[in-house]
Amino acid sequence: MKLCRFQPRVVPADKVGTTAHPEVLQGVISGETVREISGDILARWSVTNRSWPLTDVKLLPPVLPSKIVCLGRNYVEHAAEFNNPTPKQPLIFLKPPSSLLAPEDPIVLPPAVGRVDYEGELAVIISKECSQLRDGDDIRPFIAGYTCLNDVSARDYQALDKQWTRAKSFDTFCPLGPVLETEFDIASGTVETLLNGVRKQYSAFTAMVFPVDVIIPWVSRVMTLLPGDVIATGTPAGVGPMQPGDTVEVVLAGIGTLSNPVIARSA
Ligand code: ZN
Repeated sequence: MKLCRFQPRVVPADKVGTTAHPEVLQGVISGETVREISGDILARWSVTNRSWPLTDVKLLPPVLPSKIVCLGRNYVEHAAEFNNPTPKQPLIFLKPPSSLLAPEDPIVLPPAVGRVDYEGELAVIISKECSQLRDGDDIRPFIAGYTCLNDVSARDYQALDKQWTRAKSFDTFCPLGPVLETEFDIASGTVETLLNGVRKQYSAFTAMVFPVDVIIPWVSRVMTLLPGDVIATGTPAGVGPMQPGDTVEVVLAGIGTLSNPVIARSA
């Protein structure tokens, strides 16, 4: 099942372009239709009698997390492409919720930022509060579903700074979506990243150093995970820079495509 947050598009009186209605709604997608739901998208909800064609809505990040926890170097070949060893235990960092970006909205490169890379990743959405899980605990009750994430990274700042906070945290550096897929088989899943339609990254999730059922208990022993929190599971090899005018797509088969253009902000 594909759940989403969205805004209906509004056609202005002069019929030139569209704008997004300010009201943010939640929906369930069936075919080419979005049906509005009421209730808690992560728990109990019901379908209302309002619906829109998918083409008449603007999709938003499917959740509003309290935090975005990211795995670093969680694929052997990605660690190797920057001459880093594979970590002995999960390597985590945070991106702020203010970095979230909706599908189709532009990634904005700050002035003088240097190299900025795409990182296509599987994101896990937490359904309910969890802390102090033990290795081997059943994590399924704590997972609401999955979506695509682009862990946009200012590589020069990442190298300059000991902490990665600046490199990972600029506004628009966390595209998320397009939907929250509640039924998804990680074991057979793949992530693919396209830059201007050309495949740059491709991997099965089975290549993760630390799989999701190890990551979530481990993170829960560091910080309490809350409903809607996002765990970005790391990126495979093939990361590379984006330039203004590019379009980057993160594709998870069975979930969807997260597409964003890239623009520059003038100084
Ligand atoms: Zn990443």
